[in-house]
Amino acid sequence: MHQLFATRAARMKASEIRELLKLLDQPGIISFAGGIPDPALFPTEAFSQAFQQALGAGGGAQALQYSVSEGYMPLREWIAGHMRKIGIDCGPDDVLITSGSQQALDYLGKLFLSPGDTALVGWPTYLGALAAFNAYEPRFDRLREGGNAGAAQYRAAAGPGTVKYAYLSPDFANPTGETVDRQGREALLDLAEELDCALIEDGAYQALRYDGQAIPPILALELERKGDLQACRTIYCGSFSKTLSPGLRVGWVVAARPVIAQLVLMKQAADLHSATINQMAVHQVAQTCFDSHIPKVRATYGARRDAMLAALDRHMPEGVQWTRPEGGMFIWLTLPPGSDGAQLLARALETVKVAFVPGQAFHPDGSGANTIRLSFSNSDEATIAEGIARLGAVLHG
Ligand code: PMP
Repeated sequence: MHQLFATRAARMKASEIRELLKLLDQPGIISFAGGIPDPALFPTEAFSQAFQQALGAGGGAQALQYSVSEGYMPLREWIAGHMRKIGIDCGPDDVLITSGSQQALDYLGKLFLSPGDTALVGWPTYLGALAAFNAYEPRFDRLREGGNAGAAQYRAAAGPGTVKYAYLSPDFANPTGETVDRQGREALLDLAEELDCALIEDGAYQALRYDGQAIPPILALELERKGDLQACRTIYCGSFSKTLSPGLRVGWVVAARPVIAQLVLMKQAADLHSATINQMAVHQVAQTCFDSHIPKVRATYGARRDAMLAALDRHMPEGVQWTRPEGGMFIWLTLPPGSDGAQLLARALETVKVAFVPGQAFHPDGSGANTIRLSFSNSDEATIAEGIARLGAVLHG
């Protein structure tokens, strides 16, 4: 049968690491692998009430019914208000609800990339973005933030294809935990202007800042320059996954109308709309407890980040370096040259039952063998201290 598959199918491969990590649900393993929220933080009671309320109203006539592709209007209004608070002046018609921000990444690949076009991405970058874009048969080129690669160089490397967009997560990126400063964001806007390409701003972790000064989103900076969302080339992707619940699959896009209109057509063709009842419940919970819930999430993850940084300081051998993120869920380790993160994972699993993700998978060119990603979001402080001590022992050995 496989000879019938389209050429794009050959580019979609199960990652060996993901397959390995599936086996981790065993007792005794300390996992810093999955970048997943701690379920203890889910506002379960609030969701329970919200679902009951949605079903109770008119016997669920709205909640269980088809709805519009753009998304549930009260939720789009709430999101527009939330965006305005972080400097992005927009209204509900500038918002499209997606099934997680992952769906937005897929649609954006579909919207912009013809085979052979170039997508500029970080080296490393979010694995799920690479997977989503990859299906549209692009060429990946390395986005050098603050680096010296100019538009001409990117254009020359693109060959007969076109540089269509740059993708990045400017706050507490997955996998590095790093944040792009204001100057870096301005430089990216300059680059996008020069290249006449779009900028995809992935704000999945935007709300999860534990210290330091908030930096305006790239779209907010572009709006400061242009004064009109309709003139902006930045496409902002947001998500409730890291703040309220990943399982409900509710995310959003804010962008200029022609982009939103095209994405609405894609959504119509792909899944008609995101689950009506989930959008209603997320709206209800966001409205009643987003502002009180976020400080709890920040306090919990912030303490875990501190615990992981302290344990790394204590247990890592000389020659190992790591990032010090101001938010998000990840710390990125660079091991001495010649080290192999995948081999280290095999050894750590076998000898001390500690898991993490080797960094190579986040690099489109397969580089980064000596890097690993640690997630601190789903383990308490004592477990983090124990797991890092064990990992240190393996690295010392
Ligand atoms: N962007 C980044 C950077 C992520 O880490 C993730 C999830 N791990 C997503 C997008 C997708 O999240 P969701 O589809 O749940 O919104």
